[in-house]
Amino acid sequence: MNIETIQVVKQLLDSPKKIVVVGHKNPDGDAIGSCLGLYFFLKKLGHGVTVLMPNDFPDFLKWMPGCETIIIHEKETDKSAVTISDASVIFTLDFNSLSRIGDVREQLEKSNAQFVMIDHHQQPDNYAVAMYSDTAMSSTAEMVFHFMDALDGLSYLDSEIATNLYTGIMTDTGSFRFPSTTATTHRVVARLIESGAKNSSIHQNIYDTNSPNRMRLLGVALKNLTILPEYSTAYIVLSQKELDDNNFKKGDTEGFVNYALSIKGIIFAVIFIENKQDNIVKMSLRSKGDFSVNEFARTHYHGGGHTNAAGGRSSHSLNTTITDFISILPAYKNALT
Ligand code: 5GP
Ligand code: MN
Repeated sequence: MNIETIQVVKQLLDSPKKIVVVGHKNPDGDAIGSCLGLYFFLKKLGHGVTVLMPNDFPDFLKWMPGCETIIIHEKETDKSAVTISDASVIFTLDFNSLSRIGDVREQLEKSNAQFVMIDHHQQPDNYAVAMYSDTAMSSTAEMVFHFMDALDGLSYLDSEIATNLYTGIMTDTGSFRFPSTTATTHRVVARLIESGAKNSSIHQNIYDTNSPNRMRLLGVALKNLTILPEYSTAYIVLSQKELDDNNFKKGDTEGFVNYALSIKGIIFAVIFIENKQDNIVKMSLRSKGDFSVNEFARTHYHGGGHTNAAGGRSSHSLNTTITDFISILPAYKNALT
């Protein structure tokens, strides 16, 4: 965090404020963990704080300390609108473009609050008076730790903050194995464990709560895996019917795409998930090395993210989406081989 940004934030927080902390649509472990970690920290500094998410988050995150206080905009739209209009400071975490928050966008655009961004995605938009953006960071949760440090606030670390930040870092780094995991990440994590994060229980809470339905859906996903060796690419398709047949619940497909990426020789993996309700096909894209799925998702799928992990969507049918995808690959043959 640079000196000017720290100064702006210190000024914003020098007296008790009404603060809203917002995460992105379809919140993941890093969105929830970073927002709740910051929530407990700002409360300890004496502010009135509310965490708000555009829509609901998966059950496997519903044990995280403070998660019962989160306002889900989609479920409590009026309360969400009032909370936003009352706020004088709004923190936006784990996203960098207001296009990532669905209908909450309109509320934020109406607000007179000052915005602070904490985020690690590429190509940030310019809406914040204080922008802490660092694409080299493992996770937004790690950034919240550095943010606390910059405000001389590490003495406020407690087990609630530590548990939330640990969960965010663990989920966004694939349990500390993605290339964005640095020696500093490990030092941060060590400090979080010392401050009360129970690493082994957190891992169990997140990864050992599979439902039989999710396991069966994984079976279907793996059966639907297609490998295109000439492009070092593998993809998985899940239709709405397959989701329905296996009683799909939010979060069930999280991580499926990594099985495609784990195949020897594969450097580009995609999962296509049909969503009939929104009339889209949601895609998760992953890569190894220099092939940028951020660029790929931005160019073709109204999406974005990081070099090695991005998301996007198509408004064509599932079949057309796949056919189009395959027809795009030859243009990337050099990058993929
Ligand atoms: P996932 O595939 O797990 O949904 O997302 C992978 C990464 O890409 C995450 O960091 C997520 O925040 C980001 N991401 C997912 N969908 C979108 C999207 O539609 N637009 C942008 N800009 N980023 C996305
Ligand atoms: Mn993140």
